[in-house]
Amino acid sequence: MDCIFCRIVRAEIPAEVVARTDDVVAFLDVQPLADGHVLVVPLAHEACVEDLEPAQADALFRVVRLLAGPVREAVDGAGTTIGVNNGTATGQTIPHVHVHIVPRWQNDGAGSVHTIFPRKAYRDVKEVGTLIRAAVAEASSGIDVGRGAD
Ligand code: AMP
Ligand code: ZN
Repeated sequence: MDCIFCRIVRAEIPAEVVARTDDVVAFLDVQPLADGHVLVVPLAHEACVEDLEPAQADALFRVVRLLAGPVREAVDGAGTTIGVNNGTATGQTIPHVHVHIVPRWQNDGAGSVHTIFPRKAYRDVKEVGTLIRAAVAEASSGIDVGRGAD
Protein backbone atom coordinates (compact mmCIF):
# COMPACT_ATOMS: atom_id res chain seq x y z
CA MET A 1 0.00 0.00 0.00
CA ASP A 2 1.71 3.21 -1.01
CA CYS A 3 -1.08 5.65 -0.25
CA ILE A 4 0.69 8.78 0.93
CA PHE A 5 -1.81 9.42 3.72
CA CYS A 6 -1.54 5.82 4.96
CA ARG A 7 2.21 6.38 5.09
CA ILE A 8 1.70 9.54 7.15
CA VAL A 9 -0.73 7.64 9.41
CA ARG A 10 1.98 5.00 9.98
CA ALA A 11 4.60 7.76 10.49
CA GLU A 12 6.68 6.34 7.60
CA ILE A 13 7.05 9.76 6.02
CA PRO A 14 7.28 13.12 7.76
CA ALA A 15 4.30 15.36 8.26
CA GLU A 16 3.59 18.35 10.47
CA VAL A 17 1.15 16.49 12.71
CA VAL A 18 -1.06 18.74 14.85
CA ALA A 19 -3.37 16.15 16.42
CA ARG A 20 -3.67 12.38 16.67
CA THR A 21 -6.32 10.12 18.21
CA ASP A 22 -6.93 6.36 18.03
CA ASP A 23 -8.91 6.90 14.81
CA VAL A 24 -7.68 10.10 13.19
CA VAL A 25 -4.53 12.06 12.31
CA ALA A 26 -4.46 15.77 11.50
CA PHE A 27 -1.47 17.40 9.79
CA LEU A 28 -0.59 20.49 7.80
CA ASP A 29 -1.10 20.41 4.06
CA VAL A 30 2.27 20.40 2.31
CA GLN A 31 0.96 22.91 -0.27
CA PRO A 32 -1.17 25.14 1.94
CA LEU A 33 -3.96 27.21 0.43
CA ALA A 34 -3.54 29.49 3.44
CA ASP A 35 -1.58 29.56 6.69
CA GLY A 36 -2.87 26.81 8.97
CA HIS A 37 -4.34 24.64 6.19
CA VAL A 38 -4.93 21.33 7.98
CA LEU A 39 -5.94 17.93 6.63
CA VAL A 40 -7.82 15.56 8.91
CA VAL A 41 -7.71 11.90 7.86
CA PRO A 42 -9.12 8.69 9.30
CA LEU A 43 -6.58 5.93 9.97
CA ALA A 44 -8.72 3.69 7.77
CA HIS A 45 -7.88 3.81 4.05
CA GLU A 46 -11.23 4.57 2.44
CA ALA A 47 -11.69 6.78 -0.58
CA CYS A 48 -14.98 8.48 0.20
CA VAL A 49 -16.92 9.61 3.24
CA GLU A 50 -19.69 7.12 2.50
CA ASP A 51 -17.16 4.26 2.51
CA LEU A 52 -16.29 4.87 6.16
CA GLU A 53 -17.85 2.85 8.94
CA PRO A 54 -20.23 5.02 10.98
CA ALA A 55 -17.86 5.00 13.96
CA GLN A 56 -14.92 6.04 11.74
CA ALA A 57 -16.95 8.92 10.31
CA ASP A 58 -18.12 9.94 13.80
CA ALA A 59 -14.51 10.02 14.99
CA LEU A 60 -13.35 11.97 11.93
CA PHE A 61 -15.96 14.70 12.15
CA ARG A 62 -15.65 14.88 15.91
CA VAL A 63 -11.98 15.82 15.44
CA VAL A 64 -12.84 18.27 12.64
CA ARG A 65 -15.26 19.98 15.02
CA LEU A 66 -12.64 19.96 17.77
CA LEU A 67 -9.89 21.44 15.58
CA ALA A 68 -11.90 24.09 13.73
CA GLY A 69 -11.62 26.66 16.54
CA PRO A 70 -7.99 26.08 17.59
CA VAL A 71 -6.72 25.98 13.99
CA ARG A 72 -8.46 29.28 13.23
CA GLU A 73 -7.30 30.91 16.46
CA ALA A 74 -3.68 29.73 16.07
CA VAL A 75 -3.29 31.80 12.90
CA ASP A 76 -5.68 34.61 13.89
CA GLY A 77 -8.18 33.54 11.26
CA ALA A 78 -11.63 35.07 11.01
CA GLY A 79 -13.28 31.83 9.88
CA THR A 80 -12.54 28.54 8.17
CA THR A 81 -13.65 26.86 5.00
CA ILE A 82 -14.09 23.16 5.69
CA GLY A 83 -14.41 20.85 2.73
CA VAL A 84 -13.98 17.40 1.28
CA ASN A 85 -13.24 16.52 -2.32
CA ASN A 86 -15.27 13.32 -2.25
CA GLY A 87 -14.44 11.16 -5.30
CA THR A 88 -12.08 11.60 -8.25
CA ALA A 89 -14.73 13.49 -10.28
CA THR A 90 -14.57 16.29 -7.68
CA GLY A 91 -10.83 16.75 -8.04
CA GLN A 92 -9.85 14.44 -5.19
CA THR A 93 -6.23 13.56 -5.84
CA ILE A 94 -5.54 11.16 -2.97
CA PRO A 95 -8.11 8.37 -2.56
CA HIS A 96 -8.00 8.42 1.23
CA VAL A 97 -10.69 10.54 2.89
CA HIS A 98 -9.35 13.90 4.04
CA VAL A 99 -11.16 16.92 5.39
CA HIS A 100 -9.56 20.26 4.54
CA ILE A 101 -9.73 22.94 7.24
CA VAL A 102 -8.58 26.20 5.65
CA PRO A 103 -8.39 29.37 7.75
CA ARG A 104 -10.00 32.43 6.19
CA TRP A 105 -9.91 36.20 6.57
CA GLN A 106 -12.16 38.99 5.37
CA ASN A 107 -11.17 39.93 1.81
CA ASP A 108 -8.58 37.14 1.57
CA GLY A 109 -9.35 36.82 -2.12
CA ALA A 110 -10.84 33.33 -1.90
CA GLY A 111 -14.51 32.69 -2.57
CA SER A 112 -17.17 30.74 -0.74
CA VAL A 113 -17.95 27.12 -1.63
CA HIS A 114 -20.60 28.53 -4.00
CA THR A 115 -17.87 29.89 -6.24
CA ILE A 116 -16.61 26.45 -7.26
CA PHE A 117 -19.90 25.67 -9.02
CA PRO A 118 -21.11 27.12 -12.33
CA ARG A 119 -24.73 26.74 -11.03
CA LYS A 120 -25.94 24.12 -13.44
CA ALA A 121 -29.01 22.47 -11.94
CA TYR A 122 -31.64 21.23 -14.36
CA ARG A 123 -34.10 19.27 -12.27
CA ASP A 124 -37.14 20.31 -10.30
CA VAL A 125 -36.26 20.69 -6.61
CA LYS A 126 -39.35 18.76 -5.43
CA GLU A 127 -38.61 15.91 -7.82
CA VAL A 128 -35.01 15.73 -6.60
CA GLY A 129 -36.18 15.86 -2.99
CA THR A 130 -38.44 12.85 -3.62
CA LEU A 131 -35.59 10.92 -5.25
CA ILE A 132 -33.19 11.65 -2.41
CA ARG A 133 -35.72 10.80 0.32
CA ALA A 134 -36.33 7.46 -1.42
CA ALA A 135 -32.59 6.77 -1.66
CA VAL A 136 -32.05 7.67 2.00
CA ALA A 137 -34.93 5.39 3.06
CA GLU A 138 -33.49 2.60 0.87
CA ALA A 139 -30.15 2.94 2.64
CA SER A 140 -32.00 2.08 5.90
CA SER A 141 -29.88 4.59 7.72
CA GLY A 142 -32.46 5.14 10.41
CA ILE A 143 -32.72 8.80 9.41
CA ASP A 144 -36.19 10.35 9.42
CA VAL A 145 -36.62 11.55 5.82
CA GLY A 146 -39.63 13.72 6.62
CA ARG A 147 -42.21 14.44 3.94
CA GLY A 148 -40.81 17.35 2.00
CA ALA A 149 -42.11 20.90 1.88
CA ASP A 150 -45.81 20.23 1.19
P1 AMP B 1 -7.36 16.75 -2.60
O1 AMP B 1 -7.16 17.55 -3.84
O2 AMP B 1 -8.62 17.08 -1.86
O3 AMP B 1 -7.20 15.27 -2.85
O4 AMP B 1 -6.20 17.22 -1.62
C1 AMP B 1 -5.02 16.54 -1.41
C2 AMP B 1 -4.17 17.46 -0.59
O5 AMP B 1 -3.10 16.71 -0.06
C3 AMP B 1 -3.55 18.60 -1.39
O6 AMP B 1 -3.96 19.84 -0.83
C4 AMP B 1 -2.04 18.37 -1.26
O7 AMP B 1 -1.31 19.57 -1.12
C5 AMP B 1 -1.99 17.54 0.02
N1 AMP B 1 -0.81 16.67 0.14
C6 AMP B 1 -0.29 15.84 -0.79
N2 AMP B 1 0.77 15.17 -0.31
C7 AMP B 1 0.92 15.60 0.98
C8 AMP B 1 1.86 15.30 2.01
N3 AMP B 1 2.85 14.40 1.84
N4 AMP B 1 1.72 15.93 3.20
C9 AMP B 1 0.73 16.83 3.39
N5 AMP B 1 -0.19 17.14 2.46
C10 AMP B 1 -0.09 16.55 1.26
ZN1 ZN C 1 -4.59 5.54 2.52
